[in-house]
Amino acid sequence: MNMDENKRRRSMLLYILIAIVVYLAVSQTMYPALQNSQTKEVSYSEFLTMVDKKEVAQVQKTQGDATLYFTTGEGDGQQKYSTVIFGSGEGLTEKLEASGAQMVGKIADTSNDMWIYLLISYGLPIIVFFILGWYLNRRMKKAMGDDGPSMNFGGGFGMGGGLGKSNVKEVKGEETGVTFKDVAGQDEAKESLEEIVSFLKKPEKYNEIGARCPRGALLVGPPGTGKTLLAKAVAGEAGVPFFQIAGSEFVEMFVGRGAAKVRDLFKQAKEKAPCIIFIDEIDAVGKKRDGSINSNDEREQTLNQLLSEMDGFDNQKGIVVLAATNRPESLDQALLRPGRFDRRIPVELPDLAGREAILQIHANDVKMEPGIDLGVLARSTPGASGADLANIINEAALRAVRFGRKRVTQEDLAESVDVVIAGEKKKSTVLSQHEKEVVSYHETGHAIVAAMQKGSAPVSKITIVPRTSGALGFTMQVEEDEHFLTTREEAKNKIAVLCGGRAAEELIFGEMTTGASNDIEKATGIARAMVTQYGMSDKFGMVALGQQRNRYLGGGSELTCSEGTAQEIDAEVQALVEEGHQTALATLQKNRFKLHEIAHYLQKKETITGEEFMNILTHDDGFAPAMPAPADGQQR
Ligand code: ADP
Ligand code: MG
Ligand code: ZN
Repeated sequence: MNMDENKRRRSMLLYILIAIVVYLAVSQTMYPALQNSQTKEVSYSEFLTMVDKKEVAQVQKTQGDATLYFTTGEGDGQQKYSTVIFGSGEGLTEKLEASGAQMVGKIADTSNDMWIYLLISYGLPIIVFFILGWYLNRRMKKAMGDDGPSMNFGGGFGMGGGLGKSNVKEVKGEETGVTFKDVAGQDEAKESLEEIVSFLKKPEKYNEIGARCPRGALLVGPPGTGKTLLAKAVAGEAGVPFFQIAGSEFVEMFVGRGAAKVRDLFKQAKEKAPCIIFIDEIDAVGKKRDGSINSNDEREQTLNQLLSEMDGFDNQKGIVVLAATNRPESLDQALLRPGRFDRRIPVELPDLAGREAILQIHANDVKMEPGIDLGVLARSTPGASGADLANIINEAALRAVRFGRKRVTQEDLAESVDVVIAGEKKKSTVLSQHEKEVVSYHETGHAIVAAMQKGSAPVSKITIVPRTSGALGFTMQVEEDEHFLTTREEAKNKIAVLCGGRAAEELIFGEMTTGASNDIEKATGIARAMVTQYGMSDKFGMVALGQQRNRYLGGGSELTCSEGTAQEIDAEVQALVEEGHQTALATLQKNRFKLHEIAHYLQKKETITGEEFMNILTHDDGFAPAMPAPADGQQR
């Protein structure tokens, strides 16, 4: 804010300076009379004397003007004079003729002269003042984010909006600078929006047949999947004006202001049709009107206004209202009925191909070393949104700069995936030798359980470098290709892998640490979902026992069953996790030599790749895996 203020002040000063310089320059060149300060004024009798002495070289007289301009001498010695004729100046002509002075007559063109004079001395400052006022007005509005009261300065009177105006940003379609090309993946969403684009381009074509284009479309999906981006791309593709406003901007302190804003928004849009109105995060204003105690009068009034405006506009001209939300279930039913936001366009998390395409788009903006493999990156980031992926590329570029490199390397990218998943490496955390050992066994435990299962994603990296997120290490598994369904077996395997860390600690050290808390949370989550949502428990079968609270924001689920059942569910969940725990223990028991070997190697190297891990795991070192374990030297 402070910097802005300074900047504004500086450019204002600069502006005033330029104005003054321009003013002086123009007045100097256009009105030379102002320059002629050397013209000497003399009395008429002096003039006559000079004529008599034949000193006068040239006389200039303007018709109808009593002032004479004359010069004496020549070249460098020339002197300019002016005098006022006394009486009618009779006999002057003869006298001058006799003296040999050159006579120059001029037709009066006072009008022209006066005009320029007036323009320069009055008009110019006024114009400068007006421009300055308009300029300040604009700067001020910009600085305030098109928000707040509009300020009028000087010539800016009458410009800018008044109270109750919506602070909506109108952007020319092309100026959003985004087209469908900038949105990777999301082909279904683009296809649905394609129709809207073609309608906005040629509304007549639809009117001819009598087809009604949807008035509104609702983009729904998790945060960061490109909803806002898609809306801008529609405007860019159609090349029509684009009114963007966030739902929260409608919700005001005073009842009625929000509704006034809605009215104003639609009024502006009708003038500019065909155009797009884009209401981002519409749930702020479009929440269900449920008449609960903490209902909000202002919000409801705004919503009512929005509903009636959406009914009211005549769609011959081509106004399309787009809205985005990640909480569609909280929206008022009235908003979703045909004629309003009847089209619902899902914008889901990208799949493998989508992730790679998004990475590619953002990778085009940064300089990369040749031969970068973005596919690996895409495979190691399941569940990442477009915004996450954009962030990964940017983190990699930042890292390259930090290391003084000119181009982003594959290593930068791999490291930035870790940063986004687990946080930055934390240098200040110094683990004791024993702790490091525990973490090594813990992570190796996860990796071995994962590797020993059929169908588990291969391990791609194990590290025991502490991270700022609090993780003391992690094991990364990368799916070879994409899964859309998870079988019961796979879910159970996942639980076992998550239990592998704790199982290794128990097996080797005979103690438990807090390091497994995150694993426990995840394992329990999977088990609970298996029982309550996926119908995967033998006991309850296909009965939905919970209701998902918020699909796109990961709000967890709510139990919808009796208390007795809830107790049984807990027991069932506990049994599932315990099963996984036992599987992990058994797997590690069978492979305890490998566990020792890999854990020691990991402790030495701190980070090992999936390949190194598999090499040690598969090379035959003389022990059969199922051999009874000898006394463990490491046990404490
Ligand atoms: P949302 O509105 O869904 O929360 P945004 O549209 O604001 O998400 O997306 C945030 C950023 O993520 C975008 O500016 C863009 O850089 C990136 N992004 C998201 N999805 C995509 C995509 N499909 N293609 C390219 N970039 C994307
Ligand atoms: Mg958004
Ligand atoms: Zn763990």
